[in-house]
Parts: sequence; C-alpha cells; structure tokens
Amino acid sequence: RIELPRTVERILELLRGSGYSSQVVGGCVRDSLLGECPCDWDVATSATPQQVRALFAPLCRVVSTGERHGTVTLILDGEQVEVTTYRIDGSYSDGRRPDGVRFTSRLCEDLARRDFTVNAMAYSPREGLCDPFGGQEDLQRRVLRCVGEPDRRFGEDALRLLRALRQSAQHGFSVERETEKSLLRNRSLLLRISPERVARELILLLCGRECGRVLRRYWQVLAVVLPGIEPMVGLDQHNPYHRFDVFEHTVRVLEAVPPEPVLRLCALFHDMGKPECFTIDGQGIGHFRGHPLISERMARASLTALHLPRRTVEEVSALVRHHDRKLPPERAALLRALHELGETAVRRLLVFRRADWTGQGTWPERLVEVDRAQALLEDLLKEGACYRERDLALSSRELMALGVPEGPYLGVLRGRLLDAVIEGRAENEREALLSEARRLIEQE
Ligand code: ATP
Ligand code: MG
Repeated sequence: RIELPRTVERILELLRGSGYSSQVVGGCVRDSLLGECPCDWDVATSATPQQVRALFAPLCRVVSTGERHGTVTLILDGEQVEVTTYRIDGSYSDGRRPDGVRFTSRLCEDLARRDFTVNAMAYSPREGLCDPFGGQEDLQRRVLRCVGEPDRRFGEDALRLLRALRQSAQHGFSVERETEKSLLRNRSLLLRISPERVARELILLLCGRECGRVLRRYWQVLAVVLPGIEPMVGLDQHNPYHRFDVFEHTVRVLEAVPPEPVLRLCALFHDMGKPECFTIDGQGIGHFRGHPLISERMARASLTALHLPRRTVEEVSALVRHHDRKLPPERAALLRALHELGETAVRRLLVFRRADWTGQGTWPERLVEVDRAQALLEDLLKEGACYRERDLALSSRELMALGVPEGPYLGVLRGRLLDAVIEGRAENEREALLSEARRLIEQE
C-alpha cells in the first residue's frame, strides 16, 4: 500500500466519481516503493484534458501546462498536481520528441511509452499496483531496464540515455545488461538533444549520491556532450602529490564536495585543462602550468553552450580559475580573498580545497590547514572585519576634507587605505585611517 497525500487522493476520487479511471504514476510510485519521499505526484487518467478542466475548474485553479500533450496542472489546497491523459506517443522522427500524441483510454498503453520499467508502474488505492513490465522486481534488484527494446527506445528519445545515468546516480540503480549495451552503443544520439535538457540531467546526475560510480562506468556517454572528459581519462600526473590519474582524481573530488550544482560543476571542470598543458621535466615530474585558466576557459565554453544561467556560468568559472589559490589560515590572505572574490566564493573555495586534497589521496595534514582557515574565516566574518571599501571607517567626504579633490585619486586613495587595513598596517578606525591618509597624500 502506498500512502497518498490527501489532495492526490481527492483528485483520484473525483475523477473516479465521474467515471474516469485514474492512478498515480511514474516517479512517485517508484519513490514510494523505495521508501523515499516523492517530490511530486503525477496523476494519469482516461479523462481528456478538456474533461479534466471541466471537472476541476469549479473546484480549484486549473493551469494548462501542456494540454496538447495531455497535461493539465491542478492547484488544490496549495499543492500542484499534474494530471495527464493516458497517451500513446506517435512515431519519433527527430530522436527527441514524438511527432504527435494520441490519447487512449487504456492505462497499459500509457505505461508502455514510459522509459524504464521502474518508472512504468501505476497505483491507485482501489486497484492497487499496475505493473505490466516487472518494475517492482527490477526495483527490488535496483535495476534500470528499458520498457521494450532498448535501441528503439533510445532512438526515439535520446534524452533517455541521460535519464538512465541520472536515475542510476540518484537512486543507486545499476543498468541491466542489454539496456547498458544499448546505452553505450547509442551514445552519439545525445548530440540531438537540446542543451537545456542535457544541462538539467547533467546537474541532477552530478548531484546524485552515486555519481562517482556512474561517471567511472559511463564517462564515454558524458564525453559525447563534454568532449574535454576523454583526454583526462588515464592521464597519469607523474606527480608525487597525486595518486590518481586526472579523471579518477576529478571523480574523487566530485564525490568529496557537497551535492550542490556549483561545487559539483567546479569539480568536474577544475582539472579539465590539464591535458592541454601537460609536460614532464628532466626528473620525470609532471607539470600543468596555467591549467586553472585553461580549465576555466573550458568550463565557461561548455556551460555557456549548455545554456546554463549566466550566474551559474560565472560562479563556476570563477571557482575553477581560483581553485588552486592559496588560502592559508592567515588574516591578510583571507581578507584579500574576501575582497577579490566575495564571501560565498571564499566559502566554496575552502570547501573545494578540502575536497581537492582529499581527492589527491596524499597529504592529510593539509586538511588541518583548511580547518584552521575555515575557522578563521568564520571569526573574521563574525567580527565584521573590513574587506570592502564600504567597510572603511572613513568616508569619502572626510577624505575630501583633507583636501583630496573629487575624482579618480579619491578612489585610489580609498583602495590604498583598504590595503593598509587588510594587511594590518592600519586599524579600521577613524583616527588611524586619517593619519594613514595624510601619510599617503604627503608621499604623492
Ligand atoms: P524525478 O521526478 O524524480 O526526477 P521521474 O521519473 O518522476 O523522476 P519525470 O521527469 O518527473 O521523472 O517524469 C515522470 C515520468 O514520466 C517518469 O517516471 C517516466 O515514466 C515518464 N518519462 C519522463 N521522461 C520520459 C522520457 N524521456 N521517455 C519516456 N518516459 C518518460
Ligand atoms: Mg517526477
């Protein structure tokens, strides 16, 4: 028995009371059977979108989301539930979406168009579980298996390739043999998929709890959309600080940062520039001079091509560029970093440094240094330490009162005062700043 939210139960009852068949279907059934909490509940019904609309319009807000594809969104008791008419997808000529959809009154036909057996189950309190493709058994064994013939299903909609990797990472599923072979064989189909859809799946995959395992096993699939991955695989770093090749190191860093999109993306890209600048010196030691800048360029290009929001592109690129920056547990160094990069980025950089060193598999004592830097950062922020010009305890007006004319020099002077405070040469206190300002003006 699956426990349904009250709202969803009401929707099923209302549909049923009007003579339509209806069930919850797809991800919410899978998650409930896994004992996980579904993030959204999808209802499938024999009622057409017009019939759903007519039935619910007097009771709640009805939003037409994709009516052509059969979907109507109900907003009931503050919750959103998508109600979709049973449908059969027509032929797929572009490998992305059906040329047309046809509504049907049979649940079984609707389940047959779904991607994996574990996603092709329906449930209603009255009829129980409908599972025509053995989804429950696959779920118990944690196996992803295509509904029907894998080559055909991946050929219809190549996004399913990434959905397989993503759901495998999210839920810890392995991929059934035939599905897996087909997945690898058909990987180039991914080139047909729109950047937005790829980006969404990629981020969910990277944030999935078993993303490391999935990346190690299926990197060739991702390399279709991110070609920078391939040269990293197997590239021995010839460096005593690194126990692993560049790709294995990357995966370890990914696993060690918290599952947040910016940090995980940064991990994926942070060393991608290494293959481009790899050299071995006379002692047989590997060097990667300037690799953060090359990696940044690759991250920026890839993420822009995936149409990720500008802000995400900038945040990830900045982290990649600075990922090797020294952040010792010293006041001036941290204040300088705060000034240049801002609080959020410095916090992320420290989290990243810890993961990067963890991923190298050497030098545990360096982690202690990160801990100390993190503690010091918190102290600095708590005490409201000055790291921006606007934190200075001396206003522009007070500087002008010393005879400094309005104009660029005023800005230069404020910058120098901030330097003095950051470096500990002056207290951030009015009298101290005034005398430092006089000294600087005299020097001019
Ligand atoms: P989650 O919501 O946890 O990300 P989900 O499986 O619910 O996972 P949705 O994108 O919400 O994924 O899709 C709902 C259901 O629609 C799926 O469970 C599956 O049955 C079906 N589905 C979604 N995308 C596809 C697709 N590309 N091909 C075939 N069926 C799909
Ligand atoms: Mg869902």
